[in-house]
Amino acid sequence: MLPWQSAAWSGLADASHLPHALLFCGRAGIGKRQFVERLSVRLVCERETACGACRACRLASGGNHPDILVLRREEGKAEITVDEARALNEFLVLTPHLAPRRVAVIADADHLNRSASNALLKTLEEPPAGNHLLLVSDSPARLLPTIRSRCQRIVLPRPTIAEGLSYLKGRAVPDPDAMLALTHGAALQAEAWPPDTLALAMRLMASLEAVATGTQSAVDATEAWHAVDLDIGLSLLIDIAAHLAQSVLAGIPGSAMPAEWTARLRVLASRLDLGKIFRLWDEALEARGLATAPLDRRLVWDRLFILVEAPL
Ligand SMILES: [Zn+2]
Repeated sequence: MLPWQSAAWSGLADASHLPHALLFCGRAGIGKRQFVERLSVRLVCERETACGACRACRLASGGNHPDILVLRREEGKAEITVDEARALNEFLVLTPHLAPRRVAVIADADHLNRSASNALLKTLEEPPAGNHLLLVSDSPARLLPTIRSRCQRIVLPRPTIAEGLSYLKGRAVPDPDAMLALTHGAALQAEAWPPDTLALAMRLMASLEAVATGTQSAVDATEAWHAVDLDIGLSLLIDIAAHLAQSVLAGIPGSAMPAEWTARLRVLASRLDLGKIFRLWDEALEARGLATAPLDRRLVWDRLFILVEAPL
């Protein structure tokens, strides 16, 4: 288990007292899915601990336990569909094969489409006795309010700086201090990104500064960015927008980021008001949510750079 999750883990009630529907949230890249998948194993484990040794745990670790269903957004698909949600409903009403209960996990609840969400409400309104539904969400605001209100919400913590650093150093991630600062503590995100991501973030700051100060047009900046991996580019932009909002609201913080980053942050924070920063943040989040749909990358970057463009 990730060290920063141990309090959340031991704070969970035993299976007979656990609510039937739980919504796990917290920012992306802090290990929510690992936590919830381990919880699903704990709920079927013969010792109810996720012991790792019993037959149920061995089956579950191979992804073969018949009483656990994990629903993820399929590779290359934008949404979880109504058919998948219905299959999950059917799974939860059946009698368990081996364990005392069945557990369904929706690892990407943010990507349930509207009909899938409506189908799921049926299970949430009439929960099958004894079984559990575990949802994971990076942005619970994207879920239907009726889904949110029927689940007990558990916010999983991000690591402390010391915990995050120790995690990244143990995995030989380059520039661990800066990567942790860049991602606001999302250690698993920092681990997953390619080794040149810090350099890419610095380049993005340079482009944003150039556009905001009028030394480069949005069109020219788009030319430099449209070929970059869209998911990473947008994720960096979301992190940068959060740094900018923090700088405008609370001043430029002391940070493990390079001095050049801080200098550019200062310029951008003086050029962009909060309205623009939050629009940039929202648009980047929205575009990242759609990133598996065929988006015109040029159009995406163009819209974003136009938002920071210096007024004529
Ligand atoms: Zn076990």
